[in-house]
Amino acid sequence: MSGPVIVGGGPAGAAAAIGLARAGVRPRLLERDRVVGEKVCGEFLAEDAARHLDGLGVDLPSLGAVPLRRALFGAGRAQAEMRLPFAAWSLPRAVLDAALLQAAEEAGATVERGVSVAAVQSCGTDWELRIAGGETRVAPSLILATGKHELRGVQRSASGGALGLKLILAGDVPADAVAVLACSGGYAGLQPRAGGGANLCAALDSRAPGVAEAARSAAALVAHVAAGSALAARLLAGLRAEASRPMAVARVPYGFLHRGDGPFRVGDQAAVIPSFCGDGVAMALLSGLRAAEACRRGASPALHHAGFAASVAGGMRMAGVVASLVRHAPRLMVGGVAWLPGIAGAVARRTRLG
Ligand SMILES: Cc1cc2nc3c(=O)[nH]c(=O)nc-3n(C[C@H](O)[C@H](O)[C@H](O)COP(=O)(O)OP(=O)(O)OC[C@H]3O[C@@H](n4cnc5c(N)ncnc54)[C@H](O)[C@@H]3O)c2cc1C
Repeated sequence: MSGPVIVGGGPAGAAAAIGLARAGVRPRLLERDRVVGEKVCGEFLAEDAARHLDGLGVDLPSLGAVPLRRALFGAGRAQAEMRLPFAAWSLPRAVLDAALLQAAEEAGATVERGVSVAAVQSCGTDWELRIAGGETRVAPSLILATGKHELRGVQRSASGGALGLKLILAGDVPADAVAVLACSGGYAGLQPRAGGGANLCAALDSRAPGVAEAARSAAALVAHVAAGSALAARLLAGLRAEASRPMAVARVPYGFLHRGDGPFRVGDQAAVIPSFCGDGVAMALLSGLRAAEACRRGASPALHHAGFAASVAGGMRMAGVVASLVRHAPRLMVGGVAWLPGIAGAVARRTRLG
């Protein structure tokens, strides 16, 4: 293969492919899924993600994204509401990721679906990719965009104990609000989905009481979140799970930031921002675009990673502080939103990556 190869076709891989293709380089993107499916994600997109998407040719309103204007907070009997201090939307990941891959193809990238890379290794200045099924390919440069999935030969040096769970629910929730619901072991986000129903997505400590059961059963997850606050109990009453068990992703290494050499890393392979602030997709798009530019210039991955890490470290830290407040002092957080909405809004703004 003569051009750069991107492994993984989520937002990060697609953004890198579009960036390279627009610069006149012909990248090849390998995605293991034949059909784009759902992913464990809160599906909250703020204006920074929207701005990058717009630049990549993906328009949220025309994909049917639901505008979100308010945030509701619940912990125990306490609850509060604030106007979101930035524009935000809800859009199913299956819709978003399909639109990005289509934009990558339209920009001139070759997208191969149903190609799973089993392992990679460096050989001289090239990269050798072993494809599941036995084929071997060689690429002059490699962009690793496999998200939370580790690839043999180039695993992240990341560790973490968070468990991500996602459940699609049928029924009605407030049409313009994201709800942040504290519960044992962490918190969940609940928001409307384009086309109806709601997305319930939780980031939990896998060792907390009740979390193992919540990971195995939709009814147990709904009961676990509903037990955490009066607001959750009210919002979840009457909603019906569309599957018998939630989608799950284990050992999410919140706060991970890659520094070092190897292939270019983008998205969750480069940085995992605490999910509470809904900035993971924005981070993925930004990192994909920046890596595409560095790859096109022939820059060293180590230098690129150092520069990228420095530019996002501040936003990551602030997101970590807010996520830890929700996790460890949820009532304080709800009180802060209720009594000091101006300060809560300013803090929420500071978590944006810009
Ligand atoms: C609980 C939770 C809630 C979240 N909520 C939000 C939110 O509300 N808003 C937000 O912006 N972010 C959120 N995030 C973060 C967001 O989901 C991720 O940051 C984002 O998906 C990262 O994009 P990516 O392109 O790096 O990886 P992914 O989206 O995971 O894409 C990786 C792709 O690589 C493919 N792949 C993997 N391995 C291989 C292989 N070996 N060969 C070929 N292809 C491969 C996969 O099939 C996949 O399509 C949340 C995360 C969690 C865990």
